[in-house]
This record gives sequence, structure tokens and C-alpha cells, in this order.
Amino acid sequence: MAYDFDLFVIGAGSGGVRAARFAASYGGRVAIAESRYLGGTCVNVGCVPKKFLVYGAHFSEDFEQAKSYGWSTGEAKFDWSTLISNKDREIHRLNDIYRGLLGNSGVTLHEGHAKLVDQHRVEVNGQTYSAEHILIATGGWPQVPAFPGSDLAITSQDAFFLNKLPKRIVVVGGGYIAVEFASIFNGLGAEVTQLYRGELFLRGFDDSVRVHLKEELIKHGIDLQFNADIERIDKNDDGSLRVSLKDGGLLTTDCVFYATGRRPMLDNLGLENVDVKLTKDGFIEVDELFQTSEPSILALGDIIGGLQLTPVALAEGTALARRLFKPEQYRPVDYRHIPTAVFSLPNIGTVGLTEDEAKKAGHKVVVFESRFRPMKLSLTGDQERTLMKLVVDASTDRVLGCHMVGPEAGEIIQGLAIALKAGVTKQIFDDTIGVHPTAAEEFVTMRTPVGS
Ligand code: FAD
Ligand code: NDP
Repeated sequence: MAYDFDLFVIGAGSGGVRAARFAASYGGRVAIAESRYLGGTCVNVGCVPKKFLVYGAHFSEDFEQAKSYGWSTGEAKFDWSTLISNKDREIHRLNDIYRGLLGNSGVTLHEGHAKLVDQHRVEVNGQTYSAEHILIATGGWPQVPAFPGSDLAITSQDAFFLNKLPKRIVVVGGGYIAVEFASIFNGLGAEVTQLYRGELFLRGFDDSVRVHLKEELIKHGIDLQFNADIERIDKNDDGSLRVSLKDGGLLTTDCVFYATGRRPMLDNLGLENVDVKLTKDGFIEVDELFQTSEPSILALGDIIGGLQLTPVALAEGTALARRLFKPEQYRPVDYRHIPTAVFSLPNIGTVGLTEDEAKKAGHKVVVFESRFRPMKLSLTGDQERTLMKLVVDASTDRVLGCHMVGPEAGEIIQGLAIALKAGVTKQIFDDTIGVHPTAAEEFVTMRTPVGS
């Protein structure tokens, strides 16, 4: 049967655009449908605008520290609408770049909501198109638990477009988004309370990192409350919000921001017309080739419920396009040693196993840690401290994990991820000459294991 396209991609986010562009560049006849914004979550309401807000938030510390270096900066004033409109302008520029990238690669773009009609057909804007393969790359959406007043809470979909900076904000959650936005609002001058339902936030990160960041965020003035959860939210007559906690506590705030995970975006996708199985958490189930239970339908990126990171979606898009249209270049995605950063202030950077994971995996571990006040701060009153940690296998000397909390941790960890992927040993760290004076050189000068 002759199809209109070889590949029809639903969702022009990180994974979908990558798969579509590469497939078209390899000679495939490719179409992509996007209902909301070109570039998807990362470009519009994720990584990119988030990083602009993080940069913006860091200036408050910079202005303060500059005084100790002899600068008189006058009264530093922050204007939220300037930051947001400049951010919006840049995002629009990136949307156009994505449009150009797709067009230049020969991908046919349909701007509209796509719905599966059957195993080989998709409907967009009232038209039906057939394709040999259909790729679902529809990403995720913030998930807010149901409770009285939950509709008064905002999510990351709204936070980038607020008309003004709230004076007081309650951030709920203890994952990436909650921690990053608590730092953003704190740095921009809001009074921030962060509520996390468990004992200690950032579950899954190394315990030393979790404790260290907790202490730093408290130093920065964030009111961190653990074992805390919201029972209801009510609106006061003056427009402020009354937040009732499950333990009887009460907070008054201007904004409640929920960052409690993301659900798969399957809304009105037409899944009832095909036989695509879902995982127990409701994500699309795929095999190692990103194939669903319906052989002609593929899925990748956040929608398959793995690590929800842009570089992961990109790698999956590349692998899929190669497998289908350039098999001689196909390499499966290697999910080991994926580095990641949390852009809190200070940042977390991490790659490889946590100490706990290494022990649970049966490794006998030696741990090296360094804690210090960054040199830049030594002329200032800022008491922020940096943490660096290496988890090493005692018998093979292999470095199993590198963890950092401190300025530019994301930048530093990227290089270390290459070393870990190459199978680096602690001896090679020790033999590596540092760059002086930097914070990163601490990673090659840690000689004494913790506890020795
Ligand atoms: P998405 O980028 O979500 O793209 C899916 C696209 O499909 C969307 O554009 C959507 O509109 C479209 N779509 C959905 N349904 C349909 C339909 N039926 N028809 C047509 N189009 C449809 N990751 C990092 O690596 N680093 C970061 O710093 C980072 N920061 C983040 C900050 C925030 C606030 C958030 C929310 C996420 C962040 N992420 C970050 C995660 C990253 O954004 C995602 O992992 C990545 O965008 C996933 O790509 P994707 O292609 O799977 O989905
Ligand atoms: P996460 O899964 O990272 O964190 C969700 C948090 O919400 C956890 O602390 C979780 O607690 C808590 N939680 C879940 N359900 C409830 C509930 N019903 N009530 C109270 N708390 C709840 O999700 P995020 O929304 O922060 O981010 C989504 C994903 O986006 C991330 O996992 C990450 O992959 C990606 N991302 C990446 C970034 C980066 O690379 N820098 C930045 C931002 C997002 P518990 O731990 O107890 O389950």
C-alpha cells in the first residue's frame, strides 16, 4: 500500500523534532503535527525559559557580592515584566528556528491537534494522512493531586507567564521543578515556602547532596518544610490564599505552585482506535526499539515514562530515525551514566551511582568528599559552601558516581560524565593535573576517603 508519508510524528517537542528532522535528512518522507508550540516543553515551558529565570535570579547574589569587590551598584531593582517579555521574545525566535529547521529538512509541518484514526492513519485539522510508521512524542503535562481548592494552584505551565512576581509563594513538591522554582522565586525577591511530603526532598539523589542542598536553601532564606502537605486552599477576601496543611498548620500566601510530577499527554489522542498498551503508570509501553504493542506505532521521549530529560528524548529520536532510515548508523541508546543537573541556586550536578545505589548494587565502596567555601565568596560575607563527592568501587578502583552541589555544577559534571562513560578509575582522577584556581580541580585532589 502506498502511504502519504513514511513517518508521521505527533508532537514537535525535543524527541519528535529530532526524529522527524533526522528521518527526513536520511531521505524519509516525513510529516509532523504540533498542537501548541514548536520545540515542545523544553523550549517553551521547560529547560530554556527556566534557565533564563535561573540566570535572572542569580543576579541578586551577584549584586550583593560585587560590593565586596569594590563595586557600588546603587539600589538593585528587579522588574519581572522585563524579564518575562525578553524571555518571550527569545522563545519566539527559537520557535521560528524550529520552524526553519523542520522546513529545511523537508519535513511537512501540520499545526494542529493530531488524533490516531487507526494503525496507519492520523487526523489533523480535519484531514486524514496515512503513514507507514506513526511516532507518538506527545510529552507530559503537570499533575496536581485533587483536593479542595486545587484549582487555585498554578503549575509550571503558568509560572512562566505570571503578570507579576508574587510577593509570597508556596511551592509544593520535592523534585527538580519544585527545587528549581523555589530558588528562582527566592532569588528574584519573593518570600518562598517549599513544602515536601516526605522526610527529605530530591528522592533518588545522593543523600549527601540532598542534605547539603537543604542546608544551602535554608541559608538562602527559603522556608523549607518537610513532612508537610496541603489539605485545602481557600481564597481570602483580599485575594490572598489561605493554605491549610494536613498537620493543622496555616499559611497565607499570594500563589501556590504545584510541582508534583508530570502525567503522560494522551488527551484526545485517539488511543481507543488502536491497540497501544500502557504501563501501569499510564505511559506508553515500548520495547527497546521504541515500538508499541501496535507494530506500526512507535513512541519515545517523556511519553514512555523513562528519564524525563531533553537529551534523553533527543538520543531516542536520533536512534529511531537511524534505525528506520539509516540502519547502517543505528546505535541503541545507552542509558548508563546519564548526567543531570538541578538548576537550583546553588546547582546540583550528578552522574553515575549514588553511594546508596552503589552499595545496594553490591559494590564495596570508598567515598571521597570535599566541602569548601568557593574562592569567589572569600572576600564576601556569603557563607555558601560547595560539596563534591566521588563514589568509588574499592576493588576495581572504578569511579561509580560523581556528585556536586555548587556554582556551575551542571557545567562541571558534563566533563566528568565523559570520564565515567570511558570507565575512569580513581587513580586516573589522581593522575590528572588540576586547573588552578578553580572549584573543579577539587575533583582531582581528593585523597582521603571519608571516615578514614
Ligand atoms: P515535549 O517536549 O513535551 O513535546 C511534546 C509536544 O507534543 C508538545 O509540543 C505538545 O504540544 C505536543 N502534543 C501533545 N499532544 C499532541 C497532539 N495530540 N497533537 C499534536 N501535538 C501534540 N529537561 C532537561 O534535560 N533539562 C532541563 O533543565 C529541564 N527543565 C525542565 C523544566 C520544566 C519546568 C519542565 C516541565 C521540564 C524540564 N525538562 C528539562 C524536561 C524536558 O522538557 C522534557 O524531558 C522534554 O521536553 C521531553 O521531550 P518530548 O519530545 O518527549 O516532549
Ligand atoms: P519529579 O518527579 O522530579 O518530582 C515530583 C515531586 O512531587 C516529588 O518530590 C514527589 O514526592 C512529589 N509528589 C508527587 N506526588 C505528590 C502528591 N500527590 N503530593 C505531594 N507531593 C507529591 O517531578 P517534577 O514535576 O519536579 O519534574 C518532572 C520531570 O521533569 C523531572 O522528573 C525531570 O525529569 C524533568 N525536569 C528536569 C529538569 C532538569 O533536568 N534540570 C528540571 C525540571 C524538570 P516523592 O519523592 O515523595 O514521590
